[in-house]
Amino acid sequence: MSYISMNLVTMFYLIASVCFIQALKGLSSPSTARTGNAFGMCGMAIATITTVALIFKLQAQAATTGGLGFSLVLLGVVVGGGIGAFAAKKVEMTKMPELVAAMHSLIGLAAVCIAVAVVAEPWVFQITTPGVALPFGNRLELFIGTFVGAVTFSGSVIAFGKLSGKYKFRLFQGAPVSFPGQHMLNLGIAIALIALGLVFCFAPGVEPAWTPFIIMAVLAFLLGVLIIIPIGGADMPVVVSMLNSYSGWAAAGIGFSLNNSMLIIAGSLVGSSGAILSYIMCKAMNRSFFNVILGGFGGDPAAAAAGGAQEQRPVKSGSADDAAFIMSNAETVIIVPGYGLAVARAQHSLKELVEKLTHKGVIVKYAIHPVAGRMPGHMNVLLAEAEVPYDQVFEMEDINGEFGQTDVVLVLGANDVVNPAAKDPKSPIAGMPILEAYKAKSIIVNKRSMASGYAGLDNDLFYQANTMMVFGDAKKVIEAMVKAVD
Ligand code: NDP
Repeated sequence: MSYISMNLVTMFYLIASVCFIQALKGLSSPSTARTGNAFGMCGMAIATITTVALIFKLQAQAATTGGLGFSLVLLGVVVGGGIGAFAAKKVEMTKMPELVAAMHSLIGLAAVCIAVAVVAEPWVFQITTPGVALPFGNRLELFIGTFVGAVTFSGSVIAFGKLSGKYKFRLFQGAPVSFPGQHMLNLGIAIALIALGLVFCFAPGVEPAWTPFIIMAVLAFLLGVLIIIPIGGADMPVVVSMLNSYSGWAAAGIGFSLNNSMLIIAGSLVGSSGAILSYIMCKAMNRSFFNVILGGFGGDPAAAAAGGAQEQRPVKSGSADDAAFIMSNAETVIIVPGYGLAVARAQHSLKELVEKLTHKGVIVKYAIHPVAGRMPGHMNVLLAEAEVPYDQVFEMEDINGEFGQTDVVLVLGANDVVNPAAKDPKSPIAGMPILEAYKAKSIIVNKRSMASGYAGLDNDLFYQANTMMVFGDAKKVIEAMVKAVD
């Protein structure tokens, strides 16, 4: 029986890496995103099949293990692949960030497990031969890989809890959690990690220095929790992309440990693109990149609590029919979609409403905030799904100057992204750029209640004299508006 040659393995890994690069390129624009996804899937299929063929070859060559290892690998592929396919098929679009956080945590955990296996038996991975100590370079890679993997794992678990918003546990709440001396503790852990790294890397003898390695892993798990808990709801988009980046570096770390070029390339792509996305998100949110990365500067819990208190102030409310009448008689309308629109799955009804208004001669535009919804690009994906023409969709910086001259702004299930509290230096979302809906001549806001948005803050926009609230589920309200416009 002939097995896959190492030259073929290298070639297939190279093809898979090229597919991943093409995937990233495709995902940079909505019009090429599907092709990008197809490239990603092809790359992953080639990488997986090649790896399975390689393991089969190695297994067959190592007669001692009797084939059990390969069966376990196949079992892992079937069980893991099955769970992944089921979760991806079942997940709703609005729950996507939680799924992504869960995936990141698994990548982190995998990095830790592989690093532990390599430290314990490096000869199995053909790094050394039995009785020979791990070289300094490999020790350093494994130490850093384990550290990044552990931080990614525990940080992603906390992010998962915060994003799902289902759990009562304090650390899983959207509100930031901080305590006196938190940054000093983080600094202390960072210094301890460097010292432990030196002890591990320079330890004499063939046996690995397990004590500093295990203490480092425990501290890294703790650090992952400590850097994510103080981050407030409004800064979670940055956390998601930051953990994405960490998971990429963890995968690249495994690639170095296993001497696997494809993992190094794919991991570096994810790591660097995640870091660039984090930087873009920080700019969009007007946050300092380093403050968010180091954790704990996302928001002031006291201010969040104060801002979140609901005031009993009068609001003006109206029906869907009233809103339809006002919009039909306007010359210009800007629509601000938010998380609630995605929850209600009202994008198709919205497109119908816009078509009817346009038919009546109203100029309608969509305004997209970079962090509206629960994942980067969420609103773009939602509108693309309903086949809204791209030329009607405007990014925040391109449309913000137009709100002042617009007759009507229709805010659909959005809250934080239009909250004028961002202009108040004492607010937890101070400095975050918002869609300046408050400047329009008339504002119509649709949501189900006066509940706060993801950042937990009350919104002055709802109490403005020129604002009309239309309470109800976005889909039902928009459908009623469509009938009324008719
Ligand atoms: P928000 O979460 O601030 O507000 C959404 C509003 O939608 C709520 O106030 C809710 O009010 C309303 N709503 C919910 N369900 C419905 C429904 N069925 N029909 C009508 N309204 C509904 O959303 P935004 O999009 O304004 O802001 C996004 C927030 O999420 C920001 O703080 C952002 O930082 C954060 N975030 C963004 C991520 C990203 O990558 N984009 C990732 C993680 C967090 P009510 O209950 O009264 O109906």
